[in-house]
Amino acid sequence: MFSQRLRNLTPYVPGEQPQDRTYIKLNTNENPYPPSPRVVDTLTNLDPETLRRYPDPRFTLLRQRIAERYGVTPEQVFAGNGSDEVLSFIFFAFFDSANGGPLRFPEHTYSFYPVYCNYYGIDSERIPLAPGYRIDLAPYARSGSCGVIFPNPNAPTGIAVPLADITAFLERYPSDGMVVVDEAYVDFGAESAVALIDRHPNLLVVRTLSKSMSLAGLRLGFAMGNAELISALYTTKDAFNSYPLGTLAQLAGVAAIADAAYYDAVNRAVVATRERFSRTLTDSGWEVLPSAANFVFTRCPNAGGKTIYLKLKDKGILVRHFETPGISDFVRITIGTDPDMDACAAAIAECF
Ligand code: PMP
Repeated sequence: MFSQRLRNLTPYVPGEQPQDRTYIKLNTNENPYPPSPRVVDTLTNLDPETLRRYPDPRFTLLRQRIAERYGVTPEQVFAGNGSDEVLSFIFFAFFDSANGGPLRFPEHTYSFYPVYCNYYGIDSERIPLAPGYRIDLAPYARSGSCGVIFPNPNAPTGIAVPLADITAFLERYPSDGMVVVDEAYVDFGAESAVALIDRHPNLLVVRTLSKSMSLAGLRLGFAMGNAELISALYTTKDAFNSYPLGTLAQLAGVAAIADAAYYDAVNRAVVATRERFSRTLTDSGWEVLPSAANFVFTRCPNAGGKTIYLKLKDKGILVRHFETPGISDFVRITIGTDPDMDACAAAIAECF
């Protein structure tokens, strides 16, 4: 019954969504603030009659709004069921290690990338992080790879690559290799590379509404890049599922994209809380990597990551720990509301 393909799969392990008790949930980088009131209005006033028909398979209105907001054209925008789906289509369409060499990405990064490599049979080359857990793009620029992908800021470290480094890298990287910048967390303090897509027809920038737009449950992400690349993503989608984005997701997405002012305020609050929480941790002797994201990657001088994770879980606070050699001392703590982070800091003070 089970195909060889299935037997070869290694699935991604998402953060826990436990149902056993109420936790302060700081483990999956969700935004602690609600979606924009415009999104709430759209959902509340939705005419159920609109759901009788299939959704627009080209996401016309949503693409227009994304294009206006980010200064690109609608032909330069693709959208999907979460940026995970967009990434999956990108891996399928553009990363061909049999022809170009392995796909390069950081040794410690978003753990879905190796999962997609496994799914699509793409060879990978994992580049060690530079001192301080930073991404140094110099070693990625050598020839002999089919592409490069990295999140900016990186996950789970939270550290951003300056736009000047990305610009310099794109000038050097061979133009027949694809470069993908996964900007899932860019709104919390990094610089976007979207302005570079006109200059570099081999660049794709991927975004999500899950983090900075408080819509993880909606499942909506998008990519911006050269129109030919975007057209290839529609071909990929249409060979898989005509309608990955329901009408509800498209309309709520339009409403969210329109409310930049609301989200700017929300994300400024998240950043202010991150800075305050980071200071509390460093004052008590913890090491905190400099984060430009809505989480911090941190370690305690006298306890391992697993111990921190388990002790905090016992106290009703859920954080993320990766059992990966090289980063297993750390935990990744999502930035919640001020009261959430006060509770987390108090639990830490009691335990360590
Ligand atoms: N990229 C990175 C770096 C992430 O951390 C995540 C969240 N797990 C995603 C992409 C995917 O987010 P979503 O599918 O919710 O858009």
